[in-house]
Amino acid sequence: MLPLYDPNDWEAGMKLLEDLTTNAYKVQQQVLEEILTQNVHTEYLRSFLSGHSDKKPFKERVPVVYYEDVKPYIERIANGEPSEIISAQPITELLTSSGTSGGQPKLMPSTAEDLDRKTFFYNLLVPVMNKYVDGLDQGKGMYLLFIKPEIITPSGLMARPVLTSYYKSKNFRNRPLNRFNIYTSPDEAILCPDSKQSMYCQLLCGLVQRDQVLRVGAVFASAFLRAIKFLEDYWRELCSNIRTGRVSDWITEPSCKKAVSLIVSKPNSDLADLIEYECGSKSWEGIIKKLWPRTKYIEVIVTGSMAQYIPTLEFYSGGLPLVSTMYASSECYLGINLKPLSKPSDVSYTLLPNMAYFEFIPVEKNHEESEEIQCSSVSDENCTQETRKARMETVDLVDVKLGHYYELVVTTFTGLYRYRVGDILMVTGFHNNAPQFRFVHRRNVVLSIDTDKTNEEDLLNAVTQAQRLLEPLGFLLTEYTSYADTSSIPGHYVLYWELKMKGNNDLPELDQNKMEQCCSIMEDSLDFVYRRCRKKDKSIGPLEIRVVMPGTFDALMDFCVSQGSSVNQYKTPRCIKSEEAIKILDERVIGRFFSKKIPFWEPFRM
Ligand code: AMP
Repeated sequence: MLPLYDPNDWEAGMKLLEDLTTNAYKVQQQVLEEILTQNVHTEYLRSFLSGHSDKKPFKERVPVVYYEDVKPYIERIANGEPSEIISAQPITELLTSSGTSGGQPKLMPSTAEDLDRKTFFYNLLVPVMNKYVDGLDQGKGMYLLFIKPEIITPSGLMARPVLTSYYKSKNFRNRPLNRFNIYTSPDEAILCPDSKQSMYCQLLCGLVQRDQVLRVGAVFASAFLRAIKFLEDYWRELCSNIRTGRVSDWITEPSCKKAVSLIVSKPNSDLADLIEYECGSKSWEGIIKKLWPRTKYIEVIVTGSMAQYIPTLEFYSGGLPLVSTMYASSECYLGINLKPLSKPSDVSYTLLPNMAYFEFIPVEKNHEESEEIQCSSVSDENCTQETRKARMETVDLVDVKLGHYYELVVTTFTGLYRYRVGDILMVTGFHNNAPQFRFVHRRNVVLSIDTDKTNEEDLLNAVTQAQRLLEPLGFLLTEYTSYADTSSIPGHYVLYWELKMKGNNDLPELDQNKMEQCCSIMEDSLDFVYRRCRKKDKSIGPLEIRVVMPGTFDALMDFCVSQGSSVNQYKTPRCIKSEEAIKILDERVIGRFFSKKIPFWEPFRM
């Protein structure tokens, strides 16, 4: 099914993109036909389709589902039952998504062929970038890429994040080294299991090869900023290594050390002086352009929750374009940005019609599902036959309407059928016949710093756990809200709490120790990915509670109403983004407390 072409031939690549988008309808029909023909006898599809592989019964009878609905099937595979439960092709590994279920990462099935689909997708990014930026073959890319912990499930299948799986795959390691995918980081540094050594070595290699670097980046903006913070902490040591031509002794991972030592083999005091001069300057404004002067752009995803990092990135970048090339998920890779140099706020992704079969649930502008399809999970007992039928009424890829909002549903080659990814997208235009989407937000997510995705329920649960500590002291938590503070690196969660004393209106006397414990309890109650980011990746800083004066949430309500909220329907927003609203809260803060403990985290077990 994947079209064959020479990935080094960009003209062929661009032509392929034109063909795929021109024939979007036909390609989508072929994709669905192929998936259904292959998988109609799996236990899952058989239960709905009894062997029929046509589109009509598929849309009428196969329900649109959430992860919770398919989780039992995936867990059975993880526990050793055969792949045919959901997929005719063998499931070769499970991809741990940053979405969580019951506190643990969601597991997405993957197959050997899926790796080729991803490689096909990555290959198509190259001609697009070359169309807009000249001379990328004259140097290297400094991409800071990392792997994360993996586990073996009881079936023997590996469970790990999608990028870890890709970087460890032969498709990545044996990639044909053409002029466009030469990186400053040796694979051994990318694949180093110790993330601190990996970061240090990749920055060292990037600095040593500074004259050759034409583009820099990481997958997400948060990871790139983490690298800048690391550089702030380690530039003196990095310079000393460059000066002596010797890698620090604490770099002990053998293959990484060996590969990096080959790159940092000659003492270079001129380079060390230069970097010391730039890094030693009082302001780091424009530091990227100063350290890597030939860089043409920064490749990091800055759409969705990553948009909060744009101002900080702009400070460090020295005016370089911020390029979000792709939109992808553990379920499947999704879309490409065909205008990579567009402003972050204008970025749209064109879904590649051969990646999966796509459907769309219309949602209202304020991102609620249209009423008739709200009840759409198979596990929802209250669904009537009628609503079950109505939930089938999704829109096909080529039928989405300009300016409308939709929730994305995918049917993949790897065993997910009519699966709700959870992303809300808006149609911004069409490339040939393929729609282009702006990523609007992830359903339910209120707080996100790195790859964590905390929803209202998680937040409420964490707040509830923590406030129990204060109850015996006679305190009542009357209101709370939150925001993701990314003004420093790493960013952290801030909770605003309005407390009052039970039975009187005295100002509560805050016990530092107890309040710090509340912060820790909240962190311990947040999900797996939050705790991994805090403990292992160190990409989120300690959670903070800011206690505000009585009456603060009334002031917040007055503000929201003045901005157009209805008084009758007003609900305290559980996450605040407006700077003015944050100012109202901050002006009334009477105590600030931070978590003093790293929350408990260990790789999940099955
Ligand atoms: P994961 O399940 O951990 O692979 O995360 C995939 C999710 O990350 C997607 O469903 C989106 O919510 C988000 N994501 C991925 N790529 C982008 C992007 N380019 N812009 C905004 N959000 C993205």
